[in-house]
Amino acid sequence: MQSFQLYERASTVPEKSYTRASWQAGYQSLKEEFDYWISDIEGEIPPELHGTLFRNGPGLLDINGQHIHHPFDGDGMISRVTFIDGRAHFSNRHIRTTAYLEEQKAGKILYRGVFGTQKPGGVLANAFDFRLKNIANTNVIYWGGKLLALWEAADPHRLDPYTLETLGTEHFNGVLSEGEAFSAHPRFDPSYGDSGMPRLVNFSIKPGLSTTITIFELNDKGEVVSKHPHSVPGFAFIHDFAITPNYCIFFQNPVTFNPLPFVLGMRGAGECIKFQPHQPTRIIIISRNPKQKEVQIIETQSGFVFHHANAFEMGDEVVVDSICYESLPEVEPESDFREVDFDALQPGQLWRFNLNLQQKTVQRKLLESQCCEFPTMHPQKVGRPYRYLYMGAAHASLGNAPLQAFLKVDLESGKRQLWSAAPHGFASEPIFVPCPGSEREDDGWIVGLVYNSTHHRSDVVILDAKDFERGAIAKLHLKHHVPYGLHGNFVSECFL
Ligand code: FE
Repeated sequence: MQSFQLYERASTVPEKSYTRASWQAGYQSLKEEFDYWISDIEGEIPPELHGTLFRNGPGLLDINGQHIHHPFDGDGMISRVTFIDGRAHFSNRHIRTTAYLEEQKAGKILYRGVFGTQKPGGVLANAFDFRLKNIANTNVIYWGGKLLALWEAADPHRLDPYTLETLGTEHFNGVLSEGEAFSAHPRFDPSYGDSGMPRLVNFSIKPGLSTTITIFELNDKGEVVSKHPHSVPGFAFIHDFAITPNYCIFFQNPVTFNPLPFVLGMRGAGECIKFQPHQPTRIIIISRNPKQKEVQIIETQSGFVFHHANAFEMGDEVVVDSICYESLPEVEPESDFREVDFDALQPGQLWRFNLNLQQKTVQRKLLESQCCEFPTMHPQKVGRPYRYLYMGAAHASLGNAPLQAFLKVDLESGKRQLWSAAPHGFASEPIFVPCPGSEREDDGWIVGLVYNSTHHRSDVVILDAKDFERGAIAKLHLKHHVPYGLHGNFVSECFL
């Protein structure tokens, strides 16, 4: 079976746009917590840029000097950048989860991590310890007046948006039970049904021999208005999904799970997942209408997807754009993520899948071959036909490498624009912020954190989304670095 991969290895290795040492330096813990107006600014912050960028990601890569095994096991830390009247303010806070407080007090690792972090003491100390550490490190959203830090395998943590203080776990008036999963990848439907009101759509995965996918919908007041479970055959490792006005779409990556090394204390649960290159990816389509119980499944080529860009309906078809990998890079217990050989791995690439729900067929095509991740777009285009997509990308057009650039793709004309921070800068997820009152889909700004290895500090970079070739409109130099993060969101409110 042919896989997703289309990139052909160059016969000569192109000169690298980065050094491993400069990339590695972005994976250091940030132990301090800051609160200050940013004064070191190149360029000018657009005065119309008003609101708050919240970001989440591992803030600690060690517990009192004991290294964690993978950044996904790092305790969550919120960064908040407030834009108001042409000025910007930064603050960050570690999320005081129960496990964070316990480990900080003990000064050592007390919990196993899903991605291979083990307690000191070897196999004997780790075997048969199945406690989950809800590290709240993957995403942060502001919805229905609540600021929530999300981690896909457990309940959200609620934070005070003004002080970033941790208030406890959130259960939406008892809709979630203690510890119940709530994915870190909700989608924001800008206009639900006849009401035209915004909705948050999210899911949870309960793995097993068969998998339960539960869909949640929350109204704009933050109340859960529907929660409906669906059973699908087989084990599933699903990080993200896509929505349209009528459907939720999941990619069930071809993987198997052997829990034994986890049970025996030899590996983290995430390290027991094995990619199956000869099995198909199963595309699962579930209606957003809770009364429609039927689950449609359409098979396509083997591959691995963490993130979807968007989906939309077109006649009998549902179109899904996703970042696909040839396989899941497996984490070895003895390996150090800082020593990863980028050249030995295949890049993530953007593919389009046209699903015909009547004929149960899939057509797919490569939209963007450059190594990319963290797709983002205009918030009003979620679930709708759209034209512009923004992503973190490698500097070079060929091969696999760390993200050093922001890439804009015009899906209509095929035109692409790249803004690169290479060789010393390393990019993260870009966020599109629409210009107030604008009509054009790309009238707005791209805001993202870029780690600058020369100064070991991070910059908040603002680009004109219409024209990357203008270069950065502003670079806001923080006083410190922010470790490479995962996801975040921009909201128009300010919380100073
Ligand atoms: Fe993600």
